[in-house]
Amino acid sequence: MNKDRKLIIAGNWKMNKTVAEAVDLVNGLKRELASIKEVDLVVCPPFTALTDVSKVVLDSNIRLGAQNMSEHNFGAFTGEIAAAMLKEFSVRYVILGHSERRQYQKESNELIAKKALAAHAAALKPIVCVGETLAEREADQTEKVLETQVRGSLAGATSDQVEETVIAYEPVWAIGTGKTATTEQAQAAHAFIRKVLAAMFTEAVARRVRIQYGGSVKPANARELMGQPDVDGALVGGAALEVRSFSDIVKNSI
Ligand code: PEP
Repeated sequence: MNKDRKLIIAGNWKMNKTVAEAVDLVNGLKRELASIKEVDLVVCPPFTALTDVSKVVLDSNIRLGAQNMSEHNFGAFTGEIAAAMLKEFSVRYVILGHSERRQYQKESNELIAKKALAAHAAALKPIVCVGETLAEREADQTEKVLETQVRGSLAGATSDQVEETVIAYEPVWAIGTGKTATTEQAQAAHAFIRKVLAAMFTEAVARRVRIQYGGSVKPANARELMGQPDVDGALVGGAALEVRSFSDIVKNSI
């Protein structure tokens, strides 16, 4: 594939998998994907499985991600996990501002920006999620929503930090619904996000930022989506829970 940005495909396991199931899954992925060099591979298990999964991926081409973290470094924040705690398990990436957290935990762009800065301070790479709802798309608000989310969630970041950030474009109406954005819709949204990044930073910086697509990615649609000029990988939910489907998404993407 002729793109200067390396593809990055991440599995968001959400609130699924016991420790034993997580270890089984990652062992299977390690076997199936051992020869993959063309794609950065990331798995994001629940916090409870990070320690065991980290031992399995230690000598592999699979990197570890978390699904969330606190904007604070330590202290009286019951139930929260700090960046430094994730680093203890060799976590390299952290998903921030997933639409489920924006919806159920009412996470704002301001909070996501604080978390992203805390992640950078700890040398963790944030995967910052943005995306419009169906109502927003139908009201022709997609670009306005994406611009607000991108500008708000990256507020305060330097050029170097934004180049270390992965953006996941995840139309909310396509997450877990079986509905995928058409390749044209995905490419248009990704190109628009890159345009916003160019306006915030420079064209050169925007060209280096990887933008993943997320929303019902499956083996059958991966090749066409990844073939779009501004689509640099995938954030995969449901299909990341099985060795076969996640491995086939990766193999069909190269
Ligand atoms: C996600 O939640 O990040 C996601 C893209 O889920 P799914 O692939 O199941 O739509």
